[in-house]
Amino acid sequence: MRVLVIGGMHGNEPLGVEVVTLFQKNPVVNIDVVFANEPAIEAGCRFVSRDLNRMFPGDAKSSNYEARQAAELLRQTKEYDVVLDFHNTYCPDNDCGFVGSNSDKTLLDVAWFLGLGRIIFADYDCINKFAPNCLSIEVSIGSQQNSASLWYEKIKILGRQNIIDTTIDIEKYRFVHRITLDEKKNLNLQSMDLKAFQPIASGIAKQLGVENPAYPIFVADKFTPYNYGGLLKKLN
Ligand SMILES: [Zn+2]
Repeated sequence: MRVLVIGGMHGNEPLGVEVVTLFQKNPVVNIDVVFANEPAIEAGCRFVSRDLNRMFPGDAKSSNYEARQAAELLRQTKEYDVVLDFHNTYCPDNDCGFVGSNSDKTLLDVAWFLGLGRIIFADYDCINKFAPNCLSIEVSIGSQQNSASLWYEKIKILGRQNIIDTTIDIEKYRFVHRITLDEKKNLNLQSMDLKAFQPIASGIAKQLGVENPAYPIFVADKFTPYNYGGLLKKLN
């Protein structure tokens, strides 16, 4: 299958930039790569003026760089069977894949093939919402999976597959809530030692207005200090 690898959707998250660089130095048939936000990568920051992964579907005629770049990236995704978009988080044990609600069913098989045990359906204005063939890959900074050479090898093998079909039922979640800094303060969440994919107390779920059980992700992530994390609902 033809694969596009996106690195640097958030310019300060290193894994994707390293994976793209590896493929540039050692090209592989069927695998193309692209840096999503080059000015942000060069500046070592998440974005220049707007978060690129909240700008989809983008606008080719916008005066805003990230709006134009979102449109351009979305155009490029249409030429591939699968698009892999890399991210990092400081939250431990947070490795997972993100897809849109209307994503290709085969993306779950691709995620499993790549060694991801959990998939999250997200419908905010991220690339996955508009590119049904795009799997975003979130890897914790401290994870064994935070290795560009490991992903280089896995993606190389993926490019040689015609079809992936598995009966393995990957864990599925839906993104339901972004925890604000106010909620963190008002509910004293810091004292509760929230951990990725470990359900929060039912009373706290109720106070946050989400269904119980709710599963946190991106807790206290240094890459996104303007919120305290996200909450998921488990689907299977
Ligand atoms: Zn990111």
